[in-house]
Amino acid sequence: MSFELLQLGHPHLRLQAKPIVNVHDPDIQELIGDLLQFVEEVGGMGIAAPQIDVSLQLFIMASKPNARYPQAPVMPQTVVINPEIIASTTEQDIGWEGCLSVPGIRGLVPRATHIKVRYLTCEGDTIERDYDGFIARIFQHELDHLRGTLFTDRVENNIDLMAEQEWQRMLSADSHTQVED
Ligand code: ZN
Repeated sequence: MSFELLQLGHPHLRLQAKPIVNVHDPDIQELIGDLLQFVEEVGGMGIAAPQIDVSLQLFIMASKPNARYPQAPVMPQTVVINPEIIASTTEQDIGWEGCLSVPGIRGLVPRATHIKVRYLTCEGDTIERDYDGFIARIFQHELDHLRGTLFTDRVENNIDLMAEQEWQRMLSADSHTQVED
């Protein structure tokens, strides 16, 4: 399967996505299947429907440790439909983010550390969940895609943007320091 993955500058990444009216619509279920498979293939932490030029309120979250995020918790792929944040802490955490739609760039992004959210599952059930830390960060990043916002909009200073190569170099320098400590 191949999608056209929209990249920074494509105007459709800036659209407000529409709610999904019928989760059980075969086209919606097919879209969910395609997105799940895509996240698995690329080993991503998530993808939102607008990134493949489908302007609907749907994203996938997934998390497992990898070379880029060795501290990432394990979270099975989770389908999130028509999401909203119903409560969040004012306390924020700064962390590195990247995005399939912004290739080659990493940025330091402040996000709420704890959020309470409500969304529909792929079975159409409304559920509420509490997320914190890294998972809360993924949720907020993906929710932003449904509102036409990219992580580069949220960095506080252009100095907080890095090319992937420099970011990797900095990380390996950091881990070297930690080992020596
Ligand atoms: Zn993204």
